[in-house]
Amino acid sequence: MTARRSVTVADALRQAQGKLSASSSTARLDADCLLADLLGVARSHLFTHPERLLTPEQIDAFRERIERRAEGVPVAHLTGHCEFFGLRLRVDSGCLVPRPETEHLVELAVALLPRAGSLIDLGTGSGAIALAIASERPDAVITATDSSPEALATAAANRDALGLTHVTLEQGDWFSGVADGQWDVIVSNPPYVETTSPEWRSGALQHEPALALAAGPDGLDAIRALLSPAVTRLRTGGSLVLEHGARQGEAVRGLLTAAGLSGVTTHRDLAGLERITVGFTDG
Ligand code: GLN
Repeated sequence: MTARRSVTVADALRQAQGKLSASSSTARLDADCLLADLLGVARSHLFTHPERLLTPEQIDAFRERIERRAEGVPVAHLTGHCEFFGLRLRVDSGCLVPRPETEHLVELAVALLPRAGSLIDLGTGSGAIALAIASERPDAVITATDSSPEALATAAANRDALGLTHVTLEQGDWFSGVADGQWDVIVSNPPYVETTSPEWRSGALQHEPALALAAGPDGLDAIRALLSPAVTRLRTGGSLVLEHGARQGEAVRGLLTAAGLSGVTTHRDLAGLERITVGFTDG
């Protein structure tokens, strides 16, 4: 039997970076996160212990993670968790991995939510948006919905782990199935990927649920479906806050205005792209 060459943390990371560089623009970061998680250490440990030797089991497990990452599986699905708005969230293949740009939607919603006000998050997935808002606003009455029982189970696990018991989860397809009520703020990061886009056709998003991403040829099917029931469920003076694609700002402003909302404004993300549109009921 040939003895296996000893592999250090630094060796493993170098090899992994090489394997991922063709498929990921964040090859080194991905490798660091996957190895740190596997070893149960902080990322900084990898920099301070580059000579640490990996066991054969650790080497095999790391290689397997790197292979799956090279196939496009998100880092968060491989580790089973991610960080959003300072919260550690469990994520799995049944929900979208929360994106950093969605943190901006949380900030806008928190600012618009009156004291002790009510808010509903439509299509909550892992619960990221509703739980982040709830972590900032213990005074609020918060509901989160999803049509997928699998996503709702993940959201419930996150809510319970974070102790954010003032969030109520309900199964609903936008508003259908959701108990009657009116809200001060309605938020959603609905599916908005255009099924005609090169990104969709190349399968770059194939490891996340299509239900959470794809919304017809122009990517606006979900926004069109939720908009008129949302307007009727908003209190006077209430706000609708929607995330959308970078090229959809003008179309979304048109839809919100046509649905009777006023003060319709689009906010840009940190990359300077139109990302979140807000509209208000008069009052
Ligand atoms: N921002 C995601 C992406 O383009 C899409 C999220 C969504 O459809 N809600 O990868």
